[in-house]
Amino acid sequence: MGALTFYTTQSCRPGTIAYYKKGSEGSVVLCPEFFYNNADVAQRCFQQDQPSSVIHEMTHVPFIMGTEDYSDYTMRGVQMLPAVSNLGDANTYQFFAQCKPKELLSHKIV
Ligand SMILES: [Zn+2]
Repeated sequence: MGALTFYTTQSCRPGTIAYYKKGSEGSVVLCPEFFYNNADVAQRCFQQDQPSSVIHEMTHVPFIMGTEDYSDYTMRGVQMLPAVSNLGDANTYQFFAQCKPKELLSHKIV
């Protein structure tokens, strides 16, 4: 098991919120967009927010999940993937982590 490290930087491509630094053991970089154009906690499913962004990037880390971005960052894209691809897709885990608790709360199964 490696060490997971978060960094911040000012030099990110426009529109990039965060990314896993490929080739590193476990470095996740948080871009200015992560702090300025990303909700603290989304009020609805599939809205980009800080917790789901962190989960997304953490799943890319090889010693955690080693996922790729197979879908197009939308729920529709996730639903279109074959199940075997969902297992290796960062967006699938991101949306599950973000939306499943809200779904449970809306059904009052707590
Ligand atoms: Zn990704």
